[in-house]
Amino acid sequence: MNSRVYNFSAGPSMLPEPVLSRAASEMLNYQGSGQSVMEMSHRSKVFDGIIVRCEELLRKVLGIPSNYKVLFLQGGASSQFAMIPLNLMNGSGKADYILTGQWATKAQKEAARYGDARVVASSKDKTFTYIPKTTAADFDPEADYAYICMNNTIYGTKYAELPDTGKVPLVADVSSCILSEPLDVSKFGLVFAGAQKNMGPAGLTVVIVREDLIGHARDITPTMFNYQTHADNRSLFNTPPCYAIYICMLVLEWLEELGGLEEMAKINRKKAGILYDFLDNSKLFRGTVEKEYRSLMNVPFVTGSDELDKKAVKEAEAEGFINIKGHRTVGGLRASIYNAMPLEGVEKLVDFLGRFEKANS
Ligand SMILES: *Cc1c(COP(=O)(O)O)cnc(C)c1O
Repeated sequence: MNSRVYNFSAGPSMLPEPVLSRAASEMLNYQGSGQSVMEMSHRSKVFDGIIVRCEELLRKVLGIPSNYKVLFLQGGASSQFAMIPLNLMNGSGKADYILTGQWATKAQKEAARYGDARVVASSKDKTFTYIPKTTAADFDPEADYAYICMNNTIYGTKYAELPDTGKVPLVADVSSCILSEPLDVSKFGLVFAGAQKNMGPAGLTVVIVREDLIGHARDITPTMFNYQTHADNRSLFNTPPCYAIYICMLVLEWLEELGGLEEMAKINRKKAGILYDFLDNSKLFRGTVEKEYRSLMNVPFVTGSDELDKKAVKEAEAEGFINIKGHRTVGGLRASIYNAMPLEGVEKLVDFLGRFEKANS
């Protein structure tokens, strides 16, 4: 393989090419420091410049209010499934969860180890192909928080509108939609994301948490699982994922240069529109999700025949469209078209799917 492929992986996924080129050019000697970012002390002045700039850019690009802390952590999004209840389930010991897929289900299971993690609504009855409707009355006003997964990576749904949870702080897993379009952080108590979908390489987890929710962790909380530990030390209590933070900084610079999240959203709507339009008009392929809940980032689709699905995946791969096989629980195909997937990648995929349809019907 001499050229780069179009990688439709759900994560880790593509990074913007200018970011990779920049990282390559700075690999041996970061801005005259004589070292790679991978080699430098996390206590050095030069690395401090990186982590400070990464946070500044994230605050600017997302418009994060000043009463929120930004934490750069490790342990993946999955560690948050425990950190959230340990830190937040500390008043009534109750929390409300909406199950919209595997990730929300895993989060609820983990929280149930620490308290009363109630399932308020679920879309499991239809293989998570929609987002269940709720009203403020569905939520326990005593709950310490209400939890959603905003974009469901496996099933390809997303919240078009946030649920009204009354006064209960809303917590959201935004791993697969952060930075894809504007997000009003002030509507949440906490949002978190594994970086490997839209922010950078694996190894970094970003938590954005309202200050008043920090500092009430249970006594049993491991020091490293306490948000306060990291908030008090600017994410430098121990060695942070330095290189991943550096790449995240470059991704944010790329996003800012491109015009920020309004512009990114326009591009993402265009990309997703091309794919959904094709699926809506195809006689062979169809999307698996109810239209109003369609994700901009993850697009699952099927032919209706396992055999043809497999053939399509195989032939796509031969043409340089990789990781397009659907999740085993959905089957078929799934195109994850995160920020770094070029428009051209989606156009070429649709061209391939059109040719496949002609040849196979
Ligand atoms: C990928 C993903 C996760 C899991 O992330 P890890 O960093 O592997 O723990 C959780 N939630 C969502 C929505 C995801 O897309």
